[in-house]
Amino acid sequence: MSIAIYPGSFDPVTYGHLDVIRRASLITDRLIVGVLNNPSKNPLFTVEERVELLKQAVSGIENVEIRSFSGLTVDFARLCGANVIVRGLRAVTDFEYELMLSQTNRKLCPDVDTIFLTTSLQYAYLSSSVVKEVAMYNGNISEFVPEFVEKQIKDKMSQRGE
Ligand code: ADP
Repeated sequence: MSIAIYPGSFDPVTYGHLDVIRRASLITDRLIVGVLNNPSKNPLFTVEERVELLKQAVSGIENVEIRSFSGLTVDFARLCGANVIVRGLRAVTDFEYELMLSQTNRKLCPDVDTIFLTTSLQYAYLSSSVVKEVAMYNGNISEFVPEFVEKQIKDKMSQRGE
């Protein structure tokens, strides 16, 4: 059985992430999305909130589960019994960082390999940071994230007075 993890911040989940999740779920038996607990990055949503949003967003996909993790991605992969790490590639700007990350991970854990899914063209520009930036200035984010995520972003930003 092939088990893969898809690690990231997902702050919050976007249609770009969901496209990678859907496509990765078709080529693995089990896909575990790992939400990185990274308080030092001052995320908009807590790790528990990010997990909940993702759970709701992938509820129709049977072989996908959502977990949180802290520490090294390769340790999370081992914990999950996974031998594949899935990452998304949008543009050349992602490439250098992703290459370095995948080579480091392979050095740390030679049994785990990274595979890259290139973005679907309609999401090539999309990142969680862009979504937050547009939302902060009251722009329309309905094409970037599902409706319930949009609502949570707006609620969170108004709570924080942004
Ligand atoms: P970001 O804040 O850039 O969305 P994440 O850590 O949440 O970053 O992303 C997790 C993974 O998903 C990374 O491999 C990233 O390259 C990938 N990803 C993010 N957005 C997209 C997208 N629009 N298309 C393809 N892959 C994406």
